[in-house]
Amino acid sequence: MNVDAIMALSIEDMAVFCKKKGFVYPCSEIYGGISGFFDYGPVGVEVKNNIKQEWWKTFVTARDDMAGIDGAIISNPKVWKASGHADCFTDILVECQKCGNKVRADHMVEDALGQQTDGLSAEDLWKLIEENDLKCPKCQGPFSKPTQFNLMFKTVVGPAESESSVSYLRPETAQLIFTDFKAVVDNNRMKLPFGIAQIGKAFRNEISPRDFLFRSREFEQMEIEFFTHPKKTDECPFFSEIQDLNLNIWTSEAQEAKADHEKMHLKQLVSSKKANSWQAYWLGMMLRWFMDLGIRQENLRLREHLKDELAHYAGACFDIEYNFPFGWKEIHGNADRQQFDLSQHAKFSKKDMAVFVEETREKVVPAVATEPSQGVDRAFLAFMFDAYDDDSNRGNVVLKLHPKLAPFKAAVFPLVNKLDKEAREIHESLKQELPCFFDRSGSVGRRYARADEIGIPYCITYDFDSKKDKKVTVRNILDTKQARIEISGLKDTIRGLVNGDIAFEDLKPEKA
Ligand code: ATP
Repeated sequence: MNVDAIMALSIEDMAVFCKKKGFVYPCSEIYGGISGFFDYGPVGVEVKNNIKQEWWKTFVTARDDMAGIDGAIISNPKVWKASGHADCFTDILVECQKCGNKVRADHMVEDALGQQTDGLSAEDLWKLIEENDLKCPKCQGPFSKPTQFNLMFKTVVGPAESESSVSYLRPETAQLIFTDFKAVVDNNRMKLPFGIAQIGKAFRNEISPRDFLFRSREFEQMEIEFFTHPKKTDECPFFSEIQDLNLNIWTSEAQEAKADHEKMHLKQLVSSKKANSWQAYWLGMMLRWFMDLGIRQENLRLREHLKDELAHYAGACFDIEYNFPFGWKEIHGNADRQQFDLSQHAKFSKKDMAVFVEETREKVVPAVATEPSQGVDRAFLAFMFDAYDDDSNRGNVVLKLHPKLAPFKAAVFPLVNKLDKEAREIHESLKQELPCFFDRSGSVGRRYARADEIGIPYCITYDFDSKKDKKVTVRNILDTKQARIEISGLKDTIRGLVNGDIAFEDLKPEKA
């Protein structure tokens, strides 16, 4: 989809479209909903599952240096003391003295003054609020001084409510990787460098959830902690695979100079010592994953964090941003966390987190050279925006999702209802292996439109000729070109098209 078309579609329009077509619903809407929570509908859940499967396949099962876990949502609260979340996982809140409206100070300042607030302290924000006489957007009342608001949801574990029964819904999946670290190393005989990955729910009591799925209170993450010898964070043997990727990069210097991002090769991040080679490698792998699944390169960029934004323990931090209609926004965070996490858990649990390194016959606490942290829901949004095309020629929305992400890989239609039986037989056989949709209602044109709108890449029509030549017509969503395909080889053809082993042009299609 072109950039202008993305700009024409607002995030509110996307929310309306997602609800109408069964991708995403506001949670518990029959009771008026609940701010910051969403349900994925019948086609949305398929796309979301496909995103997670593609990620897991690419970064976990297809690699030798990765193991997966699925940790619990609620854990011993000491985890969050050790990680720093209990004391420091806060956003800055200001409250209207007149109507009690509570807002996130940095977002309010960004909205009112149109300036970036990354890295500003509570004092900096308060200065801006006072200097510019910013008032409550709801009632124009004055704000009280900023306070810190902890984003973790508290919960009570067990029947007796007491101080010791309080725990938290995890605000990120990562910490469970650290607490299970030694068990995974022992079970899987992992040797540095290696990663541990996890996909799962995370919860943050965001002060003001907004922008649909972008900032919700319950969401999913796909995270990797990649561990190396602390002195070998710059020894990535796979670096050459991604070093020549030429991408939009917004350096901290460019941000400070209020300049735009520029095209740079990933190797420049390493040669300029902005990132270690493992971090640059994983940033490249993640960007390539997005592009392989259809996101246009021009809609992605890497943003280097400013010095003020970095946590005291972080070496370097980068976000992958997507060009949403409401601006370039983070969809992925990636920090070089050094030895901070494992050292903290060693200190708080009094357990040894060091591993034995055979080559040097020493025990070391590994460094997290890179922590690729991906939100599933923000990835979903980016894929949806990039795929969305309001095609004026066709007169309907065409959702050009990559076939691997599409909720159904094919739709099967009988040309007329008389051919229903034969078409159903094809559908029955296909759906055993590929998610597949059957549609016999309305004209074929209407059925094509319905399939276009939910991103079904291939529409298969059984017509009168099919009886004679044992072939069906397959139509490609991208350009509506059509090809006649043998019914006996249909399953393999569709599978080949979805996996990218066959190009639609190989089928010698005719013009639409
Ligand atoms: P932001 O600055 O936008 O609040 P963050 O820097 O706090 O994000 P991280 O802690 O780095 O986010 O989390 C990693 C990823 O988890 C993010 O890149 C994003 O994709 C996802 N994520 C974080 N918070 C939310 C949220 N409230 N709703 C949806 N996804 C989220």
